[in-house]
Amino acid sequence: MTSQPFRDGTDASYVVVGDGIAGSSAAAELADRTTDASITVVTGESEPLYNRILIKEFAKGALSADVVRMHDRSWYDDRDIDLRLGTRVETVDTTAQVLEIESGESIAYDELLVATGSTPRPLPVENADADGVTTFWTIEDAAQIRQNAARAEHNVIVGGGLLGIDYAAIAAAQDINSHYLIREGHWFSGALSETGAEIVHEALRERGVTPVVETEVSRFETDDAGQLRAAITSDGRRYEADCAGVAIGTTPNTGLLEETPVALEDGVVVDETLSADVPSVWAAGDVARYDDPRLGRHVSNGTWGSAAAQGELAARNMLAAPDAAAPFEYVPSYSVSHFEFPLASFGHPRLGDTYHERRYGDREWRRLAFRDGQLVGGVLIGDREPLQAYKQLTASGRHVQQQVQQLLAPSFDGTDFERQSSPLASD
Ligand SMILES: Cc1cc2nc3c(=O)[nH]c(=O)nc-3n(C[C@H](O)[C@H](O)[C@H](O)COP(=O)(O)OP(=O)(O)OC[C@H]3O[C@@H](n4cnc5c(N)ncnc54)[C@H](O)[C@@H]3O)c2cc1C
Repeated sequence: MTSQPFRDGTDASYVVVGDGIAGSSAAAELADRTTDASITVVTGESEPLYNRILIKEFAKGALSADVVRMHDRSWYDDRDIDLRLGTRVETVDTTAQVLEIESGESIAYDELLVATGSTPRPLPVENADADGVTTFWTIEDAAQIRQNAARAEHNVIVGGGLLGIDYAAIAAAQDINSHYLIREGHWFSGALSETGAEIVHEALRERGVTPVVETEVSRFETDDAGQLRAAITSDGRRYEADCAGVAIGTTPNTGLLEETPVALEDGVVVDETLSADVPSVWAAGDVARYDDPRLGRHVSNGTWGSAAAQGELAARNMLAAPDAAAPFEYVPSYSVSHFEFPLASFGHPRLGDTYHERRYGDREWRRLAFRDGQLVGGVLIGDREPLQAYKQLTASGRHVQQQVQQLLAPSFDGTDFERQSSPLASD
């Protein structure tokens, strides 16, 4: 709960662009805390909020589309939120405080929240738009992937990150022979070492997905009808494929702010309260590049929980007196549940200046990332038990690197550590 003082009875006009979890959470918070405000949510998508992190289960065939849906029209009507579906915002005039939408219509705002998320990057190679090649962000993408997988015999996956592993799990669930082409030396490079990644590679092989590392796709091959037939790598190898999943990263959706003075740098640059450097403009979710004082830099989180928390905080800060805006203090985490062992990453597992790891068994391993002595992130394979304790330590900003042996002890859950190390750890 927050102790922020809020403006009472505001009749201001709040416009939220994006109805993902960040935008929707913000709209809910605004509606909860105001009675006379005007709240508008504008989204390019054709349906209201659905659970983006569950669309992989829909694509696998494990869940129906209905289970993935979260809000219907009545959710917005009940809260007096004006929802504009299928409506893309083209430009923003931050001086006149007006948005222009595709149809040429304008929407005025007193406070604007940009929660536009990001878009998967296409592979910049020949035939990247062939039938059978997909990227993965929307429920429509999931439906297409499910349909492709149902009729495919051979598949390739391109991109060694967290979305790539979802494609691998879908291929495994549909029993498709699959090659997983990874440009780096192993999956989730930077966050995992080779040792940790090998646990995942082995689990993939067991599911009929063969990781092929240090490999770049140079083009896709199609038949005369434009249907994908193969991926050709830069060293000339040919991987037969009826479908391909491309997950090589995302680009933040900042186009609507390009003509404005709002600072854009791999996202909308905001301070620790999620406010942009232009009055009445805020950003939340994947599109926000916020100032994290613990890390001493701007970062994006790219996780569902963080986007929800940012949406809520941005809404509260929009309603708060300017000097009462609260900072975003949150340690994100991301869980992968495709294997018989859990895998969870937290914080910023690639932003360490030093890394320590330990293996506990065939399928149990941990790696912690430290920066200037502080724990800033890590990855746990096989045992999620210490996750909350690690997240708390990360949030505390304490200098704990000297206690790394304790942190990596098999039984670490934070309690003994608190007892034994409090004076030392605070530096
Ligand atoms: C397949 C998949 C699996 C994932 N799995 C996990 C997971 O296991 N755990 C986890 O923590 N995270 C996961 N994520 C990431 C997580 O879903 C995102 O971090 C989160 O959804 C971001 O929410 P957001 O509201 O910031 O953006 P989004 O959900 O991307 O929503 C942004 C919305 O803005 C709209 N928009 C964009 N531009 C405009 C415009 N100009 N005008 C109008 N509307 C616009 C878009 O259409 C979209 O609806 C996954 C993502 C995907 C795609």
